Amino acid sequence: MNDQDERKGLPSASGIERLAACPASFQREKGLPEINSDDADRGTVIHAAIAAILKQEYVSDDATDADAELAEQCVALWRQWKENFPGKDHVEERLWLRAPAGPATVVREIICSARLDVFAVDRDVAILMDFKTGRNPVEPPQTNLQLRTQAVILAANHQLDEVEVAIGQPLAAQPLRTCKYDRSEIIRATMELLNILAKARDPNAAAQPGLHCEYCRAKTQCQECLGLHLPMFMPPVTLSSLPVSHLVTLLERAVVAEKLCAEIKAVARQRLQTGEEIPGWTLHPGRVTRHVVDATALFDRFQKLKPEDAYERFLACIKVGLGNFKKAVGEVTGLKGKGLDGKTSALLEGLIETKVGEPYLVAAGQTVEEIEK
Ligand code: SF4
Repeated sequence: MNDQDERKGLPSASGIERLAACPASFQREKGLPEINSDDADRGTVIHAAIAAILKQEYVSDDATDADAELAEQCVALWRQWKENFPGKDHVEERLWLRAPAGPATVVREIICSARLDVFAVDRDVAILMDFKTGRNPVEPPQTNLQLRTQAVILAANHQLDEVEVAIGQPLAAQPLRTCKYDRSEIIRATMELLNILAKARDPNAAAQPGLHCEYCRAKTQCQECLGLHLPMFMPPVTLSSLPVSHLVTLLERAVVAEKLCAEIKAVARQRLQTGEEIPGWTLHPGRVTRHVVDATALFDRFQKLKPEDAYERFLACIKVGLGNFKKAVGEVTGLKGKGLDGKTSALLEGLIETKVGEPYLVAAGQTVEEIEK
């Protein structure tokens, strides 16, 4: 078990959908590192911003303006839904589920957990909302195993007779979707969950590859997954043990495969735009971005609110683009080329923070500019 693993190496609500589809994934993921992705990182930043707003704390600088705006929209959904519900907000709490009591049970072991974005309890009734920060439609609350698990674990921790769950997904552009679990539905969902967990604990559970493999940490080592999704990786070869010569061939194929994938998506988008139906797929409106076109006018309006420290506060909202700054230095000084580079560097001395991203994979003869296209 990873020391950093807040789930203590146990199944959790966020992975229960995959566990139900492939019970072997629990055993196979053990000891493997978390998968990082830009989408997951952004989701984490937005969830932290939501929690900060709910707790009336400072939103971290990691959140962009767009992230903070989305977090505000999530919080607004919660406040609107909860309006007449009396319980106080519980924010970002991890709750644990213990095994059912047996005749000889002294200590009931912990078997699963759920991290709840926000919930409120009033006597034996609770409401909870799970925030989704992407655009893609998710399983509705009635059949969403993650929410069912959250409802079960919340009910078990607070001895509840009713839990209402909701998905808060501002970018999905559809009405708030909710589902009420009464006592009998909580019992039914509990039995289902215990069944999924029992199968996952079986060391001989069969792997069932499918679309759910995308989020499984074992996917690059799982022969069933590679055999289904990338038939050129036939068992017993796995990605981690591939000979370098084979890896070179696959990297070349990957370049073609990436382009093919992009074309498949472009064709699907185009056909959906012309009204054709593709079962299971829909188009969602593109992301809206906003930017200030007249900073001077905005400052004039802002300083009327509180003139004393308006200048400092306004500057704190502004991020200086280095390309535009260099251009401005060139316009003011008339410098070009190395002279402009030197002057710009001198002005920036001690005022720059540098972050290094993941290294790029570059093929022989390929330039970084080509990669970044
Ligand atoms: S990669 Fe897919 S098939 Fe393999 S263990 Fe994970 S979920 Fe199951």
